[in-house]
Amino acid sequence: MFNPAEFSAAHWALVPLIIFGRYVVFCALLYAVFYVWKRRAWLYRKIQQHFPHRADYIREIGYSAIASVIFGGISWLCLGTAVREHTLFYSDIDTYGRLWLAISIPLTLLIHDTYFYWIHRLMHHPALYRRIHLVHHKSVNPSPWAAYAFHPIESVLEAGIIPVLLFSIPLHPVSFWAFVTLMLLFNIYGHLRYELFSRKTYDHPVGRWINSSVHHNMHHEKFDGNYGLCFTIWDRLCGTLREDSMDKVEKVHGRISQGRATAETEQVNSTVISYKTSR
Ligand SMILES: [Zn+2]
Ligand SMILES: [Zn+2]
Repeated sequence: MFNPAEFSAAHWALVPLIIFGRYVVFCALLYAVFYVWKRRAWLYRKIQQHFPHRADYIREIGYSAIASVIFGGISWLCLGTAVREHTLFYSDIDTYGRLWLAISIPLTLLIHDTYFYWIHRLMHHPALYRRIHLVHHKSVNPSPWAAYAFHPIESVLEAGIIPVLLFSIPLHPVSFWAFVTLMLLFNIYGHLRYELFSRKTYDHPVGRWINSSVHHNMHHEKFDGNYGLCFTIWDRLCGTLREDSMDKVEKVHGRISQGRATAETEQVNSTVISYKTSR
């Protein structure tokens, strides 16, 4: 059940549903926490202060459902047909050992980030932007539901990372599932619209190379720059990291410090009031 190389036709028919189901579960969980339960309490962490409309959520979920079918179909083509025999996909961990298994997971992220960055730059070519990529950019103020909200042609291109990985490096089912899950989580985080990183992360020698929700939110708000997904490597190398990114980080973190101080004051005041009323 776990190894795609052993999937029956019935399993493959369920794969798009599983992909969409996982997306719904993770997004619904974060939506419930950030957009319902802590909607007011964590407003100071929100990157853009207003909330999307119901029509935005419906559009994002609709396109994500189509994308799930496309992702499932391309996975089936690569792993459920005779194509698999030509890939480097393997089932026995001992074929390449546990060290390779551990290395292969971060390697998939680096390869994917390179692939994503250049496909994303291509999507911003004027000839393709209006016809294809605009669907994703309709979410000027995205929500987690925008994670898979792509035009079907863009979904095919995004899913192209699956054959790229399968034909370039040996992948075990563990690495394959780890990759698709991490991609989903990172995609959702990028569109969350809430800042979860600390201010120090942006100056940390490792942290500064990791893409944040603020960076991707700015891409949606300003329409260019900050093209990376998981890392800022290619944006820094190619000079496409928006120069005003740090201004936005400072602004958001200024609000976070203020919001925290207010929350602490309110906490102290309510403790004092409950102490006085209990006497
Ligand atoms: Zn874009
Ligand atoms: Zn996006």
